[in-house]
This record gives sequence, C-alpha cells and structure tokens, in this order.
Amino acid sequence: MVRAVYPGSFDPVTLGHLDIIRRAARVVDELIIGVLINRDKNPMFTTQERVEMLRECVADLPNVSVETFDGLTVDFTRSHDAKIIIRGLRAITDFESEMQIAQTNRIADPNIDTMFFTTSLQYAYLSSTIVKEMAHYGSDVSKFVPQNVAERLEQKRLEKKV
Ligand code: ADP
Repeated sequence: MVRAVYPGSFDPVTLGHLDIIRRAARVVDELIIGVLINRDKNPMFTTQERVEMLRECVADLPNVSVETFDGLTVDFTRSHDAKIIIRGLRAITDFESEMQIAQTNRIADPNIDTMFFTTSLQYAYLSSTIVKEMAHYGSDVSKFVPQNVAERLEQKRLEKKV
C-alpha cells in the first residue's frame, strides 16, 4: 500500500497541478492532496474555496482525497502514515528551491522520500500567480485552469477581489 501526499497552496489549482495529480494517482495507491493553510498570508481564495475547487476537480479519481494542513509537510505526511511527498518540477528555476525543501525534509524524517514529476511541456511556465495576474485583467484563463476555477476567478474579478 503506497500512500503519498501532494502539498501546496493551490491558490488556485491549475491544469499544471492537475496534470501532476493525475499522473501521481496512477503510480501510488492513495494520494492525499494537502492544502496549506497559512503560508501565504494573503491568498486570493480562502482555504475552504481552494479545497472545494480541488475536490470538484478530482471527483473522478477514487484514490485521491483533499485535506487542509498547517505546519510542516513532514508532520502532515507522517500523520497520514505516508512515506512519499509528491512535488512537481517545472522550469529549471524550480529545481534549486525544490532540492532545498526535499533535502531539509529528508533530514527532518529520513523515512519520507520526495518523488518529483516533471511537468508536461504545455504547463512548464504555468503558475497560480500568472493565472491570477491574467484574471485580474479579464484575460481568458480557460487554457490554464479547469472550468470551475475559471468561473470562480471571473466571480472574484467581478467582486474586484482579483
Ligand atoms: P507552493 O506554494 O508550495 O509552490 P503550489 O501550489 O504553487 O505550492 O505548487 C505545489 C506543487 O506543484 C509544487 O511542487 C510546484 O512545483 C508544483 N506545480 C505548480 N505549478 C505546476 C505546473 N504548472 N506544472 C507542474 N507542477 C507544478
């Protein structure tokens, strides 16, 4: 039984994240997505909204669940008796910070390993930040996020919260 966690802010979830989720869900038995509560003090979407969007997106994946967590990823991983942390690697710029996080986590708990998935090429330069920037200017984001997220971004724009 291989259980893994995929931690992140997901503010909001993009097609890049979903690509990693779908591919990871094929190689592990159970995947728990961990939505970080407090890292970014000023997220666009509340934790609840980020969880709802993710749950809608993974409804067709029976071995994937979504939870929130606060604190260290290794503690969250351990609390679920998981041994693997999933991360996505986009451009080369992700490499250094992801290595630093992975090495620190390995020192914190040598029983937990990080598994990297390289992004599919069409999402290599996609980030939640870019999506929010585009939504702010009313640009079409439907190539970068699923439909439910595009609708929520539009709603935020109309409420002038983007
Ligand atoms: P964080 O704030 O921890 O970077 P994110 O939600 O932005 O949280 O990202 C979570 C994980 O998903 C990270 O490993 C990140 O590299 C990866 N990721 C983000 N965007 C993409 C993408 N477009 N393609 C592949 N992986 C991605």
